[in-house]
Formats: sequence, structure tokens, C-alpha cells
Amino acid sequence: MSRTAVIGDGPAGLSAALLLAKNDHDTIVFAQDGTLMHKAHLYNYLGVEDLSGSDFQNIARRQVAAVGADLREVEVLEVASADGGFTVRTDDGEETVDNLILAGGKAAGSFAEALGADRADGALTVDADGRTSVDGLYAAGHLVRPQRSQAIISAGDGAAAALDILSREAGKDVHDWDVPPQD
Ligand SMILES: Cc1cc2nc3c(=O)[nH]c(=O)nc-3n(C[C@H](O)[C@H](O)[C@H](O)COP(=O)(O)OP(=O)(O)OC[C@H]3O[C@@H](n4cnc5c(N)ncnc54)[C@H](O)[C@@H]3O)c2cc1C
Repeated sequence: MSRTAVIGDGPAGLSAALLLAKNDHDTIVFAQDGTLMHKAHLYNYLGVEDLSGSDFQNIARRQVAAVGADLREVEVLEVASADGGFTVRTDDGEETVDNLILAGGKAAGSFAEALGADRADGALTVDADGRTSVDGLYAAGHLVRPQRSQAIISAGDGAAAALDILSREAGKDVHDWDVPPQD
């Protein structure tokens, strides 16, 4: 089974981590809890009527931890390519992963640059599944489109990247669909 690191714990990173870990994918999230969501109050997130951004984050973090993602409260200092994958360095040491999702907001832009991902007009280039020009490297959320920064867009981006990783690993399209509990 492959292993994925997610840099960032806003809606983009946590959404990716939720889908990955819920499907038993080995998932590490590097988190600093510096998300813009702590400044927000949600009235425009479909399905959520009225919720503070901090409450949204608390729920999302609980969900992600409950499905088994490894949520680490530590800053990523450096990333590098390594033998078909990536290394992620923090003050706690180094991790080697097969896939890397950059979801750290603007702050993560330097990591994409270090890994040689293509840019156009100053913005990181990704496809609809969040794939960059570097195999195994994804980017999602505010980092990818700071001019369209909305929580629900970030969450959707993260989910698309996760499904792409799961689908590539399975060799077929994967959906994460649940049905209501039976009585
Ligand atoms: C005042 C204000 C009000 C807003 N109101 C709304 C609103 O009402 N509705 C709405 O939809 N949106 C709102 N937004 C926008 C919304 O907050 C963002 O669109 C959303 O937070 C983007 O999510 P993201 O996951 O892409 O990035 P972010 O939320 O920026 O999350 C990135 C995360 O990655 C972490 N990180 C960064 N670098 C590293 C690193 N090296 N190592 C580890 N972790 C790292 C950061 O600490 C942060 O927690 C508002 C924004 C602001 C500023």
C-alpha cells in the first residue's frame, strides 16, 4: 500500500486526509492550525447553516483522527524528491512517502517550487484532480487558487486529490459512497 503525506490542516488538507484514511490509506497530516478558518464564520458552506470556522475545524480534525489519519502538530521545514516519492522533513525527523498533497495555503508554495512543479502566470498548474506536473505531487485549496478562496472549494479540491490517489492505487475509479444505516 502506498503512503501519502498531506501538508496543511485547513479544509483542503483535512478533506483529503478524511477520504484517504477512511479508505485505510496510510495518511500523515502535518498541521499547524494556522488556517484562515479561525477568522471565518460559515453561512455559505452547503449543508452548514451557521457555524464558526473554529468549530468547523474542531469537527473536521475529530473526523480525520477518528478514521485513523496520523495528525501531527509540527511544521514541515523541507521537502525533496526521493526514489519515486518524496521526503518530508520536520524538527521531529524525516518521513518518506509515495504521494504528497500540498494543502498548506500560500505558505506551501515554496515546496511546489522546490520540487519543480510547473507554474503558469505565477500560479501553480494543476489538473481537475489536483495533479501537478510532478508525478505523485498534488496541490489543493488556497495555494492553487488564492483568488477563489472559499472553504467549500478547498474541501472539494482536497477530496478530488484523495480520490485520484485511491483510484490510481486501485487501478480503477474509486468512489467513497455510504448509504443510510439499515433498521
Ligand atoms: C476574514 C476571513 C473570513 C473568511 N470567511 C469565509 C467564509 O465565510 N466562507 C468561506 O467559505 N471562506 C471564508 N474564508 C476563506 C477560508 O478561510 C479559506 O478559503 C480556507 O481556509 C482555505 O482553506 P485551505 O485548506 O485551502 O488553506 P488554509 O485554511 O490556509 O490552511 C492551510 C493550513 O496549512 C498549515 N500549514 C501551512 N504551512 C505548513 C507547514 N509548512 N507545515 C504544516 N502545516 C502548514 C497552516 O497552518 C493552515 O492550518 C475567510 C477567510 C478570511 C481571512
